[in-house]
Amino acid sequence: MLSVEEAQGLVLAPLAPLGGETVPLSQALGRVIAEAPCARTSHPSADVSAMDGWAVIAACGVTHTQIGESSAGHPFLGRVGPGQAVRIFTGAVMPEGADSVAIQEEVTLEGTTIRLSGPVPPGLHVRKEGQDFKTGQSPLAAGKLLSARDIALLAAMNRPWVTVRRRPRVAVLSTGDELALPGEPIPAGGLPSSNGLAVAAMVQSWGADALDLGLAADDFDSLVAKARAAEGCDLLVTSGGVSVGAYDKVKESLAHLGFEAGFHKIGMKPGKPLMFGRLGRMPVLGLPGNPVSAMVAATLFLKPMLRCLLGLEPALPPILLAQLASPLPAAGGRQEYLRAGLERQADGRLAALPFKGQDSAMISEMAKAEALIIRPPKAPAASAGETVPILLLD
Ligand code: AMP
Ligand code: MG
Repeated sequence: MLSVEEAQGLVLAPLAPLGGETVPLSQALGRVIAEAPCARTSHPSADVSAMDGWAVIAACGVTHTQIGESSAGHPFLGRVGPGQAVRIFTGAVMPEGADSVAIQEEVTLEGTTIRLSGPVPPGLHVRKEGQDFKTGQSPLAAGKLLSARDIALLAAMNRPWVTVRRRPRVAVLSTGDELALPGEPIPAGGLPSSNGLAVAAMVQSWGADALDLGLAADDFDSLVAKARAAEGCDLLVTSGGVSVGAYDKVKESLAHLGFEAGFHKIGMKPGKPLMFGRLGRMPVLGLPGNPVSAMVAATLFLKPMLRCLLGLEPALPPILLAQLASPLPAAGGRQEYLRAGLERQADGRLAALPFKGQDSAMISEMAKAEALIIRPPKAPAASAGETVPILLLD
């Protein structure tokens, strides 16, 4: 059976970053830079004072005569000569000639004569032009996910817009005769559909837009009609109907639309019935129906796919280490992803507590989980305190 890593390689291989679009900074949070922007100004744009005090020539000793003032936005237009000083405030441009700032706490003033408590070195309390970045430099690289701090930087670079990757458009289709949309009448013995809304929410939180195609019944006509509505999307994600039961009709229905199958089963638990292929140029990811399986598979496959489309590196989720808080039995033949809680220990290391309820239909355990403990195929029993690999959820 295909391993998780092999399957991740197969789903990511055909993907390339989407094109860019230019957005105002007010809408850039959480977007990914498509083109490294250059600074349109230096920061600071001139030598400026970092403190309130007097701008002086350091080599001229401790006694100076004040000849003017430079405040933020109102530079002193003259020149400081030997023995002269200019009253200066934080952020104000250093007057020509001066090379140092004596802070006001260390100066005594008598009329226009100022006396420093001691000599100052050249360059003291002066922020040099371009100390932070210079015009034309690109302190932000393509592929950067924009944080609020990056937006501060872009604004300081005098760039009101930024070119970011287009948000991937993801069609989400849930399947199953037993399902109803939450709030609708539930068929006898059925249940509310949670996968569609969960996947759409994940898609949104991972920087893409979801087009929820709703529910398809387990019949050819319904599946074909709903799947057609995915046209124009970058990705189609289905849930359910990809196992080996008589009502698992997703694959044969998509085949009618020209589906080229990749794989439909992988060595993972939960989430063995995972399907991948393409409809024309559009990749199709068929998630298992069991809600926990669907969400774990989305975390391991859909999220990296979206990261690839967004040009984010690395695409695969990082694997951290934690110490087991309770023992685990030997693993089976598939790679297991156990729902777990996390706790920070006194020594700063993470402890992972595997939950008792690991059934792939236990949505409450999945909702509560903070991490997935990764158990490689055939991993031997592990005792408390052993180090295990984990994936963080959220
Ligand atoms: P399937 O893969 O279609 O055989 O579904 C496996 C299990 O997952 C069945 O118990 C389904 O009822 C359940 N299931 C399938 N789709 C959903 C969904 N959208 N929301 C909640 N449970 C689902
Ligand atoms: Mg089904």
